[in-house]
Amino acid sequence: MLGSLHQIRSWFECSTLDDLLDYILQRELYTFVKNQFSSQEHQLLTFWADNYCPSSVPTYICNPPNHPICIFNWELIAVLLSRVGVVKQERFLLQKQRLTYEGANITEPISQSEEQLVFVDSHFHLDQILRRMRLRNFQHLQSVVAPGCSQYFYYGVANYVFPSRWNNWNSDVGFARGVYVSFGIHPHLAAEGVSKRQMDQLDSLTDSHLCVAIGEVGLDYTTTCICRPCRNPSRCKEEARRNQEEAFINMLLLARRKGLPVIIHCRDCGDGSAAKRTLELILHHNLAGMKFYRHCFEGTIEELTVWQQLPTIIFGVSGKFIRDNTALEVIPRIPPHQLVLETDSPFLVPVRMVSSKPPMESSSDCR
Ligand SMILES: [Zn+2]
Ligand SMILES: [Zn+2]
Ligand SMILES: [Zn+2]
Repeated sequence: MLGSLHQIRSWFECSTLDDLLDYILQRELYTFVKNQFSSQEHQLLTFWADNYCPSSVPTYICNPPNHPICIFNWELIAVLLSRVGVVKQERFLLQKQRLTYEGANITEPISQSEEQLVFVDSHFHLDQILRRMRLRNFQHLQSVVAPGCSQYFYYGVANYVFPSRWNNWNSDVGFARGVYVSFGIHPHLAAEGVSKRQMDQLDSLTDSHLCVAIGEVGLDYTTTCICRPCRNPSRCKEEARRNQEEAFINMLLLARRKGLPVIIHCRDCGDGSAAKRTLELILHHNLAGMKFYRHCFEGTIEELTVWQQLPTIIFGVSGKFIRDNTALEVIPRIPPHQLVLETDSPFLVPVRMVSSKPPMESSSDCR
């Protein structure tokens, strides 16, 4: 659970994350705690019980190794573990008890299946990764970037959004397990207009048993026209938007006919206008009841709230957004059932310190 660090810090009067970690360590994380909580800890547990526990909790028991603060933020326990040294880390991993969501009586044994680390990449571009890395197929990619780790890659959706690469999907995926595909036309290309032939081809591609969605599709206001030099930028912009909207609606209708979810791409210069118009189109065509995946979500709290009005919506966040300051406020407002992680690999490299890695290599982002 990614709770608000700000809130926890203010309750415990710790101005920095380090102070908070010191506090947890001081509280003798590794000893049994029962009804000996400080008033701040009590406040935290009450908040947790009120908001997240299915039934009321008369007493709080915390077994080692977890401190109640760690229920609220997975990042804390991760940082904490990296600080306590190998001996205590091993002791933690061997513990039979852990915090659970079942109630504040935190004594559930750890089940084996929960412990295996797996990677799920809800959105990546296999065709582009293979092309750039000059590799044959997904298995080849795995053998190069993560030899011996193939069992950790659990599930992923490879988006095929460039019609010229559509026919490669079968050989790209090869015999890989857990790799599913989606087909769509990226807004950058849809801006130039989508032909009837392309729509027909898309229609038949989506019949594949590995196709789980249509997309990514949507509106991108950063698209530039292909004329060099451009004699009439405003007309080109108008035309691009009209083409994107028309293609988007046609692909939404196709998805509805096929009963498939839609992976949505909205991008603009940061004013939220593309997302706003995208939602307008969905509502205007009475398509709000469909299943949507807002890929690479980087919006504000307001934008999130408006999109959360759709009955079935999930939001994909990437490593880039996780490092963004606004994400600290926005991500905690996305409930777990609406949140998925994605790399958008091999794209998304504009921020310093962030590399766009092939899916199973992004362990730091996925955790
Ligand atoms: Zn132009
Ligand atoms: Zn995208
Ligand atoms: Zn993408």
